[in-house]
Amino acid sequence: MDLSYTEHELAFANEARAWLAAELVLPTAFDSLDDEFNWGRNWQARLAEGRWVGIHWPFEYGGRGASGVEVAIFNMEYARSRAPQPVNRVGINLAGPTLLAHGTEIQKQRWLPNILDATEIWCQLFSEPNAGSDLASLSTRAEKVDGGFLLTGQKVWTSYAQYADFGICLARTDREAPKHSGISYLVVPMNASGIEIRPLVQITGEAEFSEVFLDEVFVPEDHLVGPLNQGWSVANTTLAHERGTSFPFKEQVVHEVFLDELYALARDTSKLSDIEIADGLAQAFVQLRVLRLHNQRTMSRLAKGIEPGPESSYVKLQWTEVTQQISNLALQIVGESSPLSGRWQRQWLWSKAASIAGGTSEIQRTIIADRLLGLPR
Ligand SMILES: Cc1cc2nc3c(=O)[nH]c(=O)nc-3n(C[C@H](O)[C@H](O)[C@H](O)COP(=O)(O)OP(=O)(O)OC[C@H]3O[C@@H](n4cnc5c(N)ncnc54)[C@H](O)[C@@H]3O)c2cc1C
Repeated sequence: MDLSYTEHELAFANEARAWLAAELVLPTAFDSLDDEFNWGRNWQARLAEGRWVGIHWPFEYGGRGASGVEVAIFNMEYARSRAPQPVNRVGINLAGPTLLAHGTEIQKQRWLPNILDATEIWCQLFSEPNAGSDLASLSTRAEKVDGGFLLTGQKVWTSYAQYADFGICLARTDREAPKHSGISYLVVPMNASGIEIRPLVQITGEAEFSEVFLDEVFVPEDHLVGPLNQGWSVANTTLAHERGTSFPFKEQVVHEVFLDELYALARDTSKLSDIEIADGLAQAFVQLRVLRLHNQRTMSRLAKGIEPGPESSYVKLQWTEVTQQISNLALQIVGESSPLSGRWQRQWLWSKAASIAGGTSEIQRTIIADRLLGLPR
């Protein structure tokens, strides 16, 4: 395993670092989610001008045709710069790559350019009240009508639904077919009549996700992605990108930065002599090194053209445990009774979502047991 960057990769990392250093003016605190969103939208447009959004997309659709290793390098540089994440994450990481793989040329030309510069925001209408881990149990249905479909059902946990122009949606188009068949993949215009978005307030006090009610929403037939009733295989492209390579590299660096800051905070507030805090910092350091080693193995595989397989479940699990561990530690350092509106307190509240979002920890453990360790079901 050779972990050093090639000359080309080193030049690429330097270029990304220099661009971010020249362009990024870190925001101070935001007054509201709307403020944060608007800042993020402008920042993403700036990133797109520099061709630093969707860098894994082909050149002709606005990307750089970056390799998996370059995507990993960029995400680490990006995290090191402490820039907030681009707001159109669903568009860049999920909808875009799915359209690239399964969309028609007309769909690509229509939707892809506006994803990169955040002109149009996308959301993901997959999860339902009775279909999360077992997504194929979804019951939202799309009835074929003249020129399109009428979509009826309920989605939940839809991040940024209130800002979205389009949603990638799974719906049942053949109710007689077995569970994984008879599902179609639709692009839903979020301003269509019959859509009601009800924001859900999280423990952070913000409403980043919503329930989305669909009542005979008309979706034009040219918004069908891939063949009718074969949406499950299209959805697998989306899901593979959700568990893809970008997030563990970014999160590794984000948490290394957190840990450095926490160490400095503990030192400056004379908490290092507290044996539990000192031990917690050391444990977190070790866990982060383990995450880094897993990422380096992934990087080495990517360099050989091997896509990550079920071991990405291990990385997701490791990241979940590290983020919750570091967040607990932060609370111990800043004092558990301090107000919940502080930066570390917010991080602690957010860390609770890590073991649910993008596949729960139980599901990751099942994949590890089943597909990596070969244990009986
Ligand atoms: C911050 C955040 C943002 C999200 N954003 C979106 C979004 O934009 N769009 C979207 O579509 N979805 C989104 N989700 C939803 C997310 O994908 C689901 O929450 C997740 O897949 C789990 O589904 P569920 O909540 O229905 O839980 P369930 O699947 O009902 O699970 C409930 C509990 O049962 C356990 N469980 C379930 N099945 C098994 C099993 N077979 N073996 C062992 N244990 C099991 C789970 O681990 C969990 O503890 C988001 C979630 C979060 C937390």
